[in-house]
Parts: sequence; structure tokens; C-alpha cells
Amino acid sequence: STKASLIVVSNRLPFVLIRNPETDELERRASAGGLVTAVCPVVIKGSGLWVGWSGIHLKDPNEAIPESNPNDQTPTAGLKSEQVVSVNIDSKIFDSYYNGCCNKMFWPLFHSMPGRANFGGEHWHDYVTVNKHFAVRTIEALEKCMAKNQGSEKSPPIVWIHDYHLMLAANWVREHAEEKNLPCRLAFFLHIPFPPWDIFRCCPGPMRSYRDYCLNFVDCCQRNLGCRVDRNNLLVEHGGRTVRVRPLPIGIPYERFVNLANSATRVLNTSKMQIILGVDRLDYTKGLVHRLMAFEALLLKYPQHKEKVSLLQISVPSRTDVKEYRELKEEVDQLVGRINGRFTTANWAPIRYIYDYVSQTELAALYMDAAVCLVTPLRDGMNLVAKEFVACQINESPGVLVISPFAGAGEMMHEALLCNPYEVNEAAEVIHRALTMPEDERVLRMTRLRRREAECDVSHWMRCFLKAVGALEMDDVGTT
Ligand code: UDP
Repeated sequence: STKASLIVVSNRLPFVLIRNPETDELERRASAGGLVTAVCPVVIKGSGLWVGWSGIHLKDPNEAIPESNPNDQTPTAGLKSEQVVSVNIDSKIFDSYYNGCCNKMFWPLFHSMPGRANFGGEHWHDYVTVNKHFAVRTIEALEKCMAKNQGSEKSPPIVWIHDYHLMLAANWVREHAEEKNLPCRLAFFLHIPFPPWDIFRCCPGPMRSYRDYCLNFVDCCQRNLGCRVDRNNLLVEHGGRTVRVRPLPIGIPYERFVNLANSATRVLNTSKMQIILGVDRLDYTKGLVHRLMAFEALLLKYPQHKEKVSLLQISVPSRTDVKEYRELKEEVDQLVGRINGRFTTANWAPIRYIYDYVSQTELAALYMDAAVCLVTPLRDGMNLVAKEFVACQINESPGVLVISPFAGAGEMMHEALLCNPYEVNEAAEVIHRALTMPEDERVLRMTRLRRREAECDVSHWMRCFLKAVGALEMDDVGTT
């Protein structure tokens, strides 16, 4: 026959295997989720296959899958063992993929609760590994199907991959299937919500970032108010009017900061010490806790920086009437204390922590001589500190800007080192890279960063804004 058969691919098989302690034999235990009830009969009837993990880590991956128990009445009873392709993965890697990546990262993130998500580079790596392995087993299932003559070019087997555990697998299935000339039709079903882009992009892996707050706004107008919108041209129709939505990134008074730096009195002694600078209001959006943990991870992983590098963190008191902000202060105070307690030596403290407002004249002196500036917010509309740092980098041997993709400033400052603050270990790597970057690379990056900020300064922004408003000619308001 040439009828298409179904290959279901899911994290778990539609039953679990347990080992009978008396006989040492494997036995099936039915699991009866909604998915199984609906899908299993189709697989059974069409002589399809099911690829998944059996719930047990087998020492011998070739150990035979048992047939179902004779008195099993559940929907999986008719699934013959020859229809099962079980996936065996090293239990450590599986745990990291399943608990570390799927449950602790994707689950909260896809439910739009990034604050609850844990991020870790290794988990992501293991997620990739496991997805690749599932793809390999799926290809074996495909070959099995083709060998049984179930499927043809005209009606290829349908490979149906399930859920957030296996979001990458289809790529490799397609790749291998093409290589081996196996026809198949790929389908994927996600059982959980899919988050908006600006939450999704908290995920590790290759990152890009666009200015998408405008689109978020346009989407909300469409969905909440039922407005007609033009996403390409960022237009919203409301109350008989057409409203223009425009991304207009603000700049800084660049010349002013260059002048402040030029006339600044040096305050940092940089002859023996590299200074990593952080300047933020004490706000949970600024990612201070993550940053401190990244710095700790740096000292652990690269002990050569001990007594050579110091983090100077300026935290400006902010919204101190709000409980969350007072609690954040407590948390940061304790973390600074703990890290300093752990690493401080007779002649060096890893973190110098200032909880106070510092004037921009003083800031200019710090910006000027810092080796690295960390701008690593979890979310920030723009972040002027990043731009001010760049403007003040007037030394021949410049420093390095490290910026989070979640800062608006990060979208244009392409020559800065990008750092996902959620990934603490990755962030430590980025800081290390910044500290050890060769001078010619630093010069190249900083020159370009500075050129852009000089051009797109605050008066440029003013002109752009007035131009976008359109009704006003620039000359009318005296900005030329
Ligand atoms: N700033 C300051 N003294 C300080 C810390 C910050 O004058 O001790 C200034 C800094 O120069 C910058 C502004 O505060 O111009 C912070 O702006 P940003 O966009 O970085 O963050 P926001 O506080 O607006 O979230």
C-alpha cells in the first residue's frame, strides 16, 4: 500500500517503562493524557510509529520494548512494540535538557513570566544535543516506514513533532531526510502559549535585536482597540485619524561629555588596576543582581583577574518609598558583602560599591578611565550611561562597552560586546573578553561607537522628532 503513515515524536512515549523488581523485566505502565487518547488510536490504525523517551534510562539501549500487558484497556494497548522507537539519552544530559532547559527556562518564558525563568548556557547546549538525538531516531523511524513500503513521494509519512521540548528537532530531520532522500512531511504542534518576541528573545542562543516597541504598540492598538493598522508603515487608525508611530532613539549632549572628560581631574588609579564600571539607578530593571553574580563567576572562572580588576558600581538611590526598591537594596547590599567577603585580600577588594548620587562631572572622570563599562539591564528603554561612557572615552587606549540586548541603546551600538544578563556564566565570559581585548580591536570598536554617538546626539534626535511630526519645519523652531 502507499497510504501515508504517521510518525509521532514527543518527549515521552505514550506509556512509561518500569522494571519489575522481581522478574527484572521491563513492563509498560499506561499513561493517559489527552494527547495519548486522541493520537494513539490513529498511530495504531495506520501502523504508524511513536518516537520518544520511555521514562527509564536503559543501560542497554537495545533492550527490547515489551508488548502491552494482555489486560491493558488503555488507548495505548494496541501499540505494538515494533511501532515504538525509544530514545535513550545519558541521564545527566537528559536532566539538564528536561529540567534545566525545558522546565526552568522555556516553561516560564513561554508563559510570559521571564522573571521566573532560569538561564544557563549548558542547559541550552544539552537541549540542542537532545533535539539532535531525537532527530536521528526519527530518521530511523522514517527508514523503517519506508522499508515497510508505507509512504511514497506522493504520500510521504507525516512526522509530527510535539511541544516545546523538541522545537529544534525538525531542522535536523529535514536535513537528514534530504540527504538520505527520504520523503516526509513535517509538522509541529506546540501545547503551550507562544510569547511575544521581546520576551522570547531572552532565550539564549544566537540573538538579534530590533527596535520593536513600536510594533508592540501597534499590535496592542489592533488587538485591544480594534484599530486598523499598517504594520509595515507603523500607522494606526483611530477616531478618524491616522496616527504615526515612530522609533526615535534619543541621544546625549555628546560635546558636553567630551568637554567634561577633557577637563576632568583623574580619580581612578589605573596603573595597576583595571576598573569595570557600572552606573545605574538602583532599580530592578537594571540587572544589578545578575551583574554581580556574573562578576563573581568571572573571579571563579578566571582567577587571574584577582587583585588586577575591580568592579566600581555606582548605585543611585531611587524610589526608596517603594518596598520592592528597599528590598532590592537589601539584596544588593548583601550580595556585595558576600562577594567581597569571599574574595577580598589585604590589598584588594573586588567590588567598590557607592550607594549615592554622583555628579556628571565626576562621572565623566570615571567613564574616561574605566577599562570596561557594564550596561546590562534586564530591560531599559534606552540607557544613556552607555552613550555617556562612549563619549568620555578620549584616551588613546580606550575601554570596552558591554551592553545588554534588552537596553534600547544596544540596538544601535553594534560594536559593543553583547551580553545577555540572564546568562550569568556567558556574561562572565563576555566580561573576560572585554578585559583581555587587544588594543587595536578596542580602538576600532570605540572609534565607530563614538562616531555614531557624535552624529546621533541629542540635537539630532530633536531634529528627527520635529521632522517626524512633519507639521513643523525645523526652521520654525530654530533648530538647525
Ligand atoms: N547619573 C548621574 N549621577 C549618577 C548616576 C547617573 O547624574 O550618580 C545620570 C547619568 O549621567 C545619566 C542618567 O543619570 O544621564 C541615567 O540615565 P539612564 O538612561 O542611563 O537611566 P535611567 O535612570 O533614566 O533609567
